[in-house]
Amino acid sequence: MPNENKIFKNLVKSFHDNKLGHAFLLETNNQEQTLKELLQFLKEINCEEEYHSDCHKCNLCNLISKQEITSLKIIRPEGQTIKKEQILELKNNFLSRPVFSKYNMYIILNAECLNSSSANVMLKFLEEPEENIIGFFITNNKENIIDTIKSRCQIYVNNYKIEEKSLNDLENISLEYVKELEVGGLETILYNKDKILPQISEREDLIKFLKEILNIYNKLFLIKIGEYKVDNFENLQFLLKIDIKYFINKLNLVKNLLIEAQYNVNSQLILDRLVLESR
Ligand SMILES: [Zn+2]
Repeated sequence: MPNENKIFKNLVKSFHDNKLGHAFLLETNNQEQTLKELLQFLKEINCEEEYHSDCHKCNLCNLISKQEITSLKIIRPEGQTIKKEQILELKNNFLSRPVFSKYNMYIILNAECLNSSSANVMLKFLEEPEENIIGFFITNNKENIIDTIKSRCQIYVNNYKIEEKSLNDLENISLEYVKELEVGGLETILYNKDKILPQISEREDLIKFLKEILNIYNKLFLIKIGEYKVDNFENLQFLLKIDIKYFINKLNLVKNLLIEAQYNVNSQLILDRLVLESR
């Protein structure tokens, strides 16, 4: 499949016009999907054949797909941070020009995990751009990226919509959310900002999400009064010890917010109220 993603399509165009930048910051609600499409883009700009569709002819495209080429480095956080040593290693790797591919390429996932010392090493790449090095910083929230890096990148937002076909995902996201809401308390406001809001780009998404939350509390209520058998609620068993009135209040709260969500486009306000008024 050719890359249908608008951002990468435009970058391919810049590449053919010889105007491709050397550092990019991609904000996305789905880093793995972005990585997949990014690898496809990298094949397209490195391919030795004339790249029409997903190339199966050349070994280079194969190696990029499998992430098995030394001129491509993908960095993920080790624990909570991306360590200085990881960036130093990258830097050493890219001292020489690439042999098989056009570019030396690096991709940094969860780039917000660069701390000040690893970011300092990173700046070397960004301040003295070499023609044959191209880099991508991927993050869920570009506001968490160190300014010195952000200011040297071309920034793109690459969000994917929650679609009908991923209703299963929506159910899992919502189950996880209810647990967070019940256990995390006020910290759920951060969870809203980091995990949920990036996935809600339109009011319809918010409404779908709230309906799913309502559905979960409704099931919990029915389980509580013995009208429903437990299905995938293992993680929420602890809630069943709570008084029935709690669920009635919760159902009313979510219902009210759902009504407001039809009129109020500010998703953050609605989700934060869900947290604040849950208490
Ligand atoms: Zn190829």
